[in-house]
Amino acid sequence: MKLKAGILGATGMVGQRFIQLLEEHPWFEIGALMASSRSAGKMYKEVAKWYLKEGIPKGISEMIVEEIDKKVIEKFDLDLVFSAIPSDIAREIEGSFALEIPVFSNTATYRMDDDVPLIIPEVNPEHLSLIKKQKEKRGWDGFIVTNPNCTTIGLVIPLKPIVDKFGIEWVNVATMQALSGAGYDGVPSMAILDNVIPFIRNEEEKVEVETAKILGSVNKTADFDIFASCNRVNVRDGHTESVFVKTEEDFDVEDLKERFRKFRGEPQELKLPTAPDRPIVVMEKEDRPQPIFDRDLGNGMSVSVGRIRRKKSQLLKFTCLSHNTIRGAAGASVLNAELAYKKKLF
Ligand code: NAP
Repeated sequence: MKLKAGILGATGMVGQRFIQLLEEHPWFEIGALMASSRSAGKMYKEVAKWYLKEGIPKGISEMIVEEIDKKVIEKFDLDLVFSAIPSDIAREIEGSFALEIPVFSNTATYRMDDDVPLIIPEVNPEHLSLIKKQKEKRGWDGFIVTNPNCTTIGLVIPLKPIVDKFGIEWVNVATMQALSGAGYDGVPSMAILDNVIPFIRNEEEKVEVETAKILGSVNKTADFDIFASCNRVNVRDGHTESVFVKTEEDFDVEDLKERFRKFRGEPQELKLPTAPDRPIVVMEKEDRPQPIFDRDLGNGMSVSVGRIRRKKSQLLKFTCLSHNTIRGAAGASVLNAELAYKKKLF
C-alpha cells in the first residue's frame, strides 16, 4: 500500500510540481492538498495558479483544498507531508506537523537549524543522522528534513566531485535565475520585461551558508569562502550559474569532465524512483547549457554543466543549469523522502 502524502502550499509554483511528481509515484500518493484560507473549501482547479503545460491531473482537479491545520493528518490519515509554503509562516506550521509525522520541506525556515538535515541525497546523505538528535531534542514523533534553496542545489552538485578530488579554496558564482523561482506572484511583468534585476532578497546569503552546511560534515560547516551574486532574468524555469572555483590542487579539464560524467550517489545506487540516471550531464557545445533546451534533462533532476575551462593553474570556470522547481524544489523534497523511506527512517 502507498503512503499518503499531504502537500502544504499545493496551489503554488512548487506545490503543483509536487502534484506532478507524486501523481504516479510508486511509493507515495496524494492524500490531501492544503493552502491558505483564500483557497480552502474550494476545488483545486478553481484556485490553483497552474502554469504547467500538462493539465491538472484528473483525480486532483476537483479535490477540495484544505486549510493548513494539523487536524488534516488525522482526517486523511496522512503518513508524511511535503511543504512549499512561505518561509515567514513555516516555523509554526511545519513544527506542528512534525510533532506527529515527517515533513519534507522546501522552505528556508528550518534549513540552518543545527539539528535539521539540509540534504542533497547525492551529496550528503549521511546528514540524515541528525534526525535522531532532532527528535530527541524537540520531542517530536515526526521530523523535518529540508532541501536547499533552488540556486544552491544546482551549484553544490557539480562542486561535490571537485571538492572531493581537488579541494576548494574559494567559489565565486553569478546567477541568472528564472521567474518561477520567485513564486507565482513574485515578479511583476513590467519589472522584468526587457530587463535584468541584480537583486534577490536574502538569496546570496542563502547560497553562501547553505553550500557550506551541505559540503561540511554533520557537525562542522565547510571552511572555504563562497561569494554569490544573484540576478533575476526573464526566463520561465531554470537557473543558470556562472561559477569560478579556486581549487587546492591543479586539475585537468578532461579528467574533471569524466569525474562529472561518472558522478553518482546513493539515489542511483538505491535506484530511488525520482533519481536521475546521471546527476550531472556534461555539455560539449560551446553555447550550452541553455534553459530552454536543457532544463528538463533527467526529468528535470539532472544538472547540466558546460563551458568547463581551466583559466590557469587551479582556476576553474564553468556554467551550470538546473530546473528550479523540480531539482531545485519539489523533486529535491521527493528524493529526500524516498531516501529517508528507503533507509527506514519512517
Ligand atoms: P507560491 O507560488 O507563491 O505559492 C505559495 C503557496 O503557499 C500557495 O499554495 C499559497 O496558497 C500558500 N500560502 C501563501 N500564504 C499562505 C498562508 N498565509 N497560509 C497558508 N498558506 C499560504 O510560492 P512557491 O514558489 O511555490 O514557493 C513556496 C516555498 O518554496 C517558498 O518558501 C519558497 O521560498 C520555496 N522554494 C521555491 C522555489 C521555486 O523555484 N519557486 C524553489 C525552492 C524553494 P494560496 O494559493 O491559497 O495563496
